[in-house]
Amino acid sequence: MTLPLLTQIVAGCLLGGLLSVFAAALVMFGLPRRWLGYTVSFSTGILLATATLHLMPEVLEAGLTPHEAFPLLLAGILGFFALEKFALWRHAHGNDAHPDASHCEDHTHSHHHMRLDDGTLSILVGDGFHNFTDGLLIAAAFLADPKLGWATTLAIIAHEVPQEAGDFAILLAAGWQRARALFWNGVSSLASLFGGVIGYWALERALEWVPHILTLAAASFLYIAVADLMPRLKREQQGLGWHGLLLAAGIAIVVFSSTHSH
Ligand SMILES: [Zn+2]
Ligand SMILES: [Zn+2]
Repeated sequence: MTLPLLTQIVAGCLLGGLLSVFAAALVMFGLPRRWLGYTVSFSTGILLATATLHLMPEVLEAGLTPHEAFPLLLAGILGFFALEKFALWRHAHGNDAHPDASHCEDHTHSHHHMRLDDGTLSILVGDGFHNFTDGLLIAAAFLADPKLGWATTLAIIAHEVPQEAGDFAILLAAGWQRARALFWNGVSSLASLFGGVIGYWALERALEWVPHILTLAAASFLYIAVADLMPRLKREQQGLGWHGLLLAAGIAIVVFSSTHSH
């Protein structure tokens, strides 16, 4: 493919946004929750494999020494943990149905969900910020290597599907109308487009930063997989064979798509 890089970046970001709307629709039409659980297994495989087998090798090939790359990876993982702790960058997942249970003494979930400041705003803002970061990561990966760009786009889509479905479920549980929830989720997913274009514009002038951004992408994928998705999988009781198979399929897709040209 010889499309200009910026076109590919925009396509990758838009694809992520489209698929997140698709994920929201899955929830809207009430498909079995088990399906969402299976996408979590698949996503976990993709994220772990993209970070360890694709991004980090690329970072080392691109010239960072192991003694530069791994401390940055460590800092990235701790940084995402800290951001999530302060709710700037968050990934809430699906069936928990309550965005922040620790805030809530009364778990009947009916009385306080009609206000906008009950967590739904922080979901949309946090989600928009997160999507912006995702766009930035997509841009960095494309600048390193278009192949890596598409692999990173795949990993981002993989974790957006359960995440967006979860956001959507929370907004509906908060009493939002479907059309309104769909609209605002769509708006927040457009933030990735801004991230992609701004990232391309800025990093093209500072290519030496690309490996650092890719290390942070690996950190975010590892953090989401280990801190967010795998705890959900630990609670799964049914279809363990399918979960294992889908996890392996996620890893296999990354392995077979990462036959590097260099
Ligand atoms: Zn994301
Ligand atoms: Zn979202």
